[in-house]
Amino acid sequence: MTQPQHTGGRVNVLTKPAVIGSIEELRSRLTDAQSRIENARAERGEAGGTPRVVLVPTMGALHAGHLALVRRARSLGDIVVVSIFVNPLQFGVGEDLGSYPRMLEADVAALAAEGVPFVFAPTSQLMYPDGAASTRVVAGAVGSLFEGAARPGHFDGMLTVVAKLFNIVGPDVAVFGQKDAQQVFLVERMLADLNFRTRIEVVPIVREDGGLALSSRNRALEPAQRAAARALSAGLEAAASVAAQGVGAALQAAQARIDVQPLVKLDYLVVVDPRTFLPVGGEHHGPARMLVAALVGHTRLIDNVALDLS
Ligand code: AMP
Repeated sequence: MTQPQHTGGRVNVLTKPAVIGSIEELRSRLTDAQSRIENARAERGEAGGTPRVVLVPTMGALHAGHLALVRRARSLGDIVVVSIFVNPLQFGVGEDLGSYPRMLEADVAALAAEGVPFVFAPTSQLMYPDGAASTRVVAGAVGSLFEGAARPGHFDGMLTVVAKLFNIVGPDVAVFGQKDAQQVFLVERMLADLNFRTRIEVVPIVREDGGLALSSRNRALEPAQRAAARALSAGLEAAASVAAQGVGAALQAAQARIDVQPLVKLDYLVVVDPRTFLPVGGEHHGPARMLVAALVGHTRLIDNVALDLS
């Protein structure tokens, strides 16, 4: 089934994305797509270098936050690849690997509506044929703070899969969400430290009405938990509004909003320097980022906001 759609003056024919589970097939489909675009451009007498590939790495159970990344990806290049892989390497013992939502069919339908041509959905066997014996990327000191302290090995696993996906897909650009601020920091540092050619683009956090940051894990929240979880974004908003008074005032304002919700068990609330991702001192001035993580029931939620401590 195809369906023409008008977007920004261009007419796209929407087809179901090709769902690809093999590295060789993905590479050959990308090469074909690039030559088709180059030939079409040549026929129209247009210039332009090699068509650009943009990757959006995800773990699926897609929501409007992921789709914002996909839309940004479409604006950045010629061919969008969305990867869907629940990466076992970034889950610790006792975490929600088994219960993490998996809904490939619904995800593919959502990506068809966005005009995405390729979905890379590998198996764990394809990604890690040697299992635990495989080579890994080490995230370094910042990788063991905050989310890394609560989830030892999480960032090594995340960087390892990102490095593999970049080598498999060879994107010019990859798109990440600001929701996972520590992930963004560590991916950017890995790209610089290991001299990757891919660059990344970061999309602002997409929130539901009431402020809760969208997350695949929100599906696990009961209505009362979801209502309580709004204290996190409310706390961050309160902090941002008093940031001019300094780090202490910002922390107090956020803490006050979160403490009144007994269903929200705070893990950390911290202000970091965006250049180092290390906690700032009380006298810090200039740009900063407040990070929060909490358990609501069994669901771990994270959020963050930029602060201007001027
Ligand atoms: P995940 O499927 O949770 O691994 O997320 C895949 C990508 O989507 C990551 O780069 C996330 O930061 C991003 N993302 C998830 N939720 C949101 C959100 N609410 N707003 C913006 N980006 C998001």
